[in-house]
Amino acid sequence: MRNYRGPIRDEPLPIELHNTLYAVGGDVVDGLADAAGRRAWVGAIGDRLPFTAPKVDPSRFGDFDALREAVREVLHATLERRRPSKAALTELNRRSATAPRFEQLTQAGPALAAQTRYQAATPMDALLGYLAAATIGLVSGPHAAELRACGAPGCVLMFLKEHPRREWCSTQCGNRARQARHYARQRRQDPTDSIAPPKPISLPSASR
Ligand SMILES: [Zn+2]
Repeated sequence: MRNYRGPIRDEPLPIELHNTLYAVGGDVVDGLADAAGRRAWVGAIGDRLPFTAPKVDPSRFGDFDALREAVREVLHATLERRRPSKAALTELNRRSATAPRFEQLTQAGPALAAQTRYQAATPMDALLGYLAAATIGLVSGPHAAELRACGAPGCVLMFLKEHPRREWCSTQCGNRARQARHYARQRRQDPTDSIAPPKPISLPSASR
């Protein structure tokens, strides 16, 4: 089983990569801060890759970080309906090109089936290229308009709003948001109320 400590929410992989920066008790935690975290994250999403999940090569940590930064920038830009930085576009396009896709026709029992293969120099290139291509597909496709930032207090995650009533990234966030609204209402009704409001959570200054 996976031992990744951060949130994995069955979101598209670019959002899962974005969400490797998450908040716990008001502090931003980097789920990919060390080798163990990176290995655990790749293990956690491994069965959603169209190829065997690679071992994370420590010499490629810098590439991993650069890709995540580009993915976060492009997702935030999409959400904020602004242009992403040129650097982020360049990074995504460069990475996507390191794992070009091609179709292979195979016999699957009595039928013919197409299989997508990735032509990458190393398994890490396949992983990074696939994540870059998935990001390009997400922000240019029909789901781009469903991208949302979770507005719950202290949450810095994104999700896809696949159905109209979904407001938060998780039920826990929905509960926290309702609780915060409840406290706010109580304070308005009785300013001398001694019930302590939830601890304010400082959002990261650099959210991308
Ligand atoms: Zn949330």
